Amino acid sequence: MTNQQIIQWLQIFAAKIEQNKEYLTELDAAIGDADHGINMDRGFKKVMSQLPSVANQDIGNILKTVSMTLISSVGGASGSLYGTLFLRASTAVAGKQELTEQDMLELLQAGLDGVLQRGKAQLGDKTMVDTLTPAVTAFRQAVDQGKPMLSAMEEAVVAAEVGMKDTIPMLAKKGRASYLGERSVGHQDPGATSCYLILKSLLEALSRNIGSGE
Ligand code: ADP
Ligand code: MG
Repeated sequence: MTNQQIIQWLQIFAAKIEQNKEYLTELDAAIGDADHGINMDRGFKKVMSQLPSVANQDIGNILKTVSMTLISSVGGASGSLYGTLFLRASTAVAGKQELTEQDMLELLQAGLDGVLQRGKAQLGDKTMVDTLTPAVTAFRQAVDQGKPMLSAMEEAVVAAEVGMKDTIPMLAKKGRASYLGERSVGHQDPGATSCYLILKSLLEALSRNIGSGE
């Protein structure tokens, strides 16, 4: 995956967030404070405005800029959690112009580890961790089996979607949704949903470039 594909990933995600802004906000209205779509859209619009200045830099620098932009422009839990995810991801691929399957695995694992350390959520707490964890596991298994990036990412996205839907019956243990106790049951977690969209966007950026020799 090249730095141009990384830029495309971020552009695809920003567009998906814009399209799903209301939906994410509705999900957050049910179990939070109705701002997740607004937070993410504000953050990624800001990221889009910063991208041209870093488009030719290495992938580590691009992701670091995303992190800094999110931390400074997005309030709430998701600003610091996504900021940490991108910061750790950027460190994992510092200086690279292109990512192998192994590099991508390290990027994803580092992002997940950052979210786990920052938010202290466990699997099953009804958060973005419930999407990211199965996705990283599926990606790792596919890479270990020698599968190429695109197939490994397809498997990660399938696992992410299952993980996202699995948040519906969960009782929230972290974040604002946890204040609702039993009333959080029966609703899909907004952060788990935006995490699914970010992985789906990564897959789309990879599949768009099939046949271009990259
Ligand atoms: P806020 O809760 O501050 O309003 P957002 O609405 O933007 O922030 O984001 C809410 C999402 O953040 C939740 O749906 C959940 O996925 C995620 N989240 C909240 N707290 C944590 C945590 N401690 N660890 C991981 N994810 C969390
Ligand atoms: Mg919220």
